[in-house]
Amino acid sequence: MSIRLQNIGKHFGKTQALEPVDLDITEGELVGLLGPSGSGKTTLLRIIAGLETADREPGGRILFGERDVTHLHVRDRRIGFVFQHYALFRHMTVFDNVAFGLTVLPRKQRPSSGEIRSRVHRLLEMVKLEHMAQRYPAQLSGGQQQRVSLARALALRPDVLLLDEPFGALDAKVRQELRRWLRHLHDELNFTSLFVTHDQEEALELSDRVVVMSNGRIEQIDTPDKLYRHPANRFVFEFLGDVNHLEGTVRDGVLTCGDARLAVDLADGPEELLLRSHELELAESPSPEAQLPVTVAAISPVGAEVRVELEADWLGEPWLATVNHANYERLALTRGARLYALPRRWHRFPAERVKQPSRAPEPVS
Ligand code: ADP
Ligand code: MG
Repeated sequence: MSIRLQNIGKHFGKTQALEPVDLDITEGELVGLLGPSGSGKTTLLRIIAGLETADREPGGRILFGERDVTHLHVRDRRIGFVFQHYALFRHMTVFDNVAFGLTVLPRKQRPSSGEIRSRVHRLLEMVKLEHMAQRYPAQLSGGQQQRVSLARALALRPDVLLLDEPFGALDAKVRQELRRWLRHLHDELNFTSLFVTHDQEEALELSDRVVVMSNGRIEQIDTPDKLYRHPANRFVFEFLGDVNHLEGTVRDGVLTCGDARLAVDLADGPEELLLRSHELELAESPSPEAQLPVTVAAISPVGAEVRVELEADWLGEPWLATVNHANYERLALTRGARLYALPRRWHRFPAERVKQPSRAPEPVS
């Protein structure tokens, strides 16, 4: 089921939680809503669900396929929900939790008890919990409980699945696993899904397309690859990865900042460059283009890459460089080592320096 929003916005009293937005989601897409806390993700999701009413804007409407659902009650929108804290019924077994939505349907729509039984068993099979049907929620892990929530959401065969930070309360490893697993389920069952997250990695890994939000605005809608390679603005660039800042003054093609220098092809004047941590190389000597002396302040060799924190007198905030393990060993990096940073690339968003939002986005690490 495709979803189309036209001129949909929301105020809570005087707070504008959502500027009027347009949004088109294709049938079968898995779309992530990504943004810092307070950026309007939940508000947007609740409006789509029918749990919240949008402001009355001219032409404001919501379509599911051809169906105008703008004024339709939540129970008539054929939506499945999974929330971070959408607790299961504690006094009911896993089976009864999943069956609940079916058993409370009006008699005319309610499947027979045999049909309910087989449908619930099929759903529990899908979420790999068929052997736990008779357990109670308290006897399940957090990840298993979220899988029950998902099965329950799917019991009524929704056209659209909405998930609000569904894995937010789980630990990193379980979260990873559930992500992959949601992706499979989505592809297998072929519904349209929209999920909210503030975790850029989760959004980029899971989504066909990502809607990046800040301050109640949609900043960009794109595939993960396009977002990362062609960010529409500075906010998107900074939100999607680690960023190092280099502020200085350009004169005759050289940016100077304290005793650091970098050759740049820019006009004279003040400049701020942004550098990704994986686009910084570390070397024992400077290059003709870059003399950026740094000291290693901390090393974290956990994971696929080594994260190296760099300090220097000419730096306000420390920089972060990620290097591969081979380079880490070759350079024999230790705390206190004096090295040179060699940027392979840098980025700048000059036009936006004057129109930074007054409410700054929350810092991301
Ligand atoms: P997110 O899900 O991205 O964290 P929300 O959509 O929950 O953001 O909130 C967006 C803004 O709207 C925030 O400033 C929040 O405080 C405000 N807001 C959300 N729900 C309500 C509400 N029921 N009443 C008043 N303000 C609200
Ligand atoms: Mg939220």
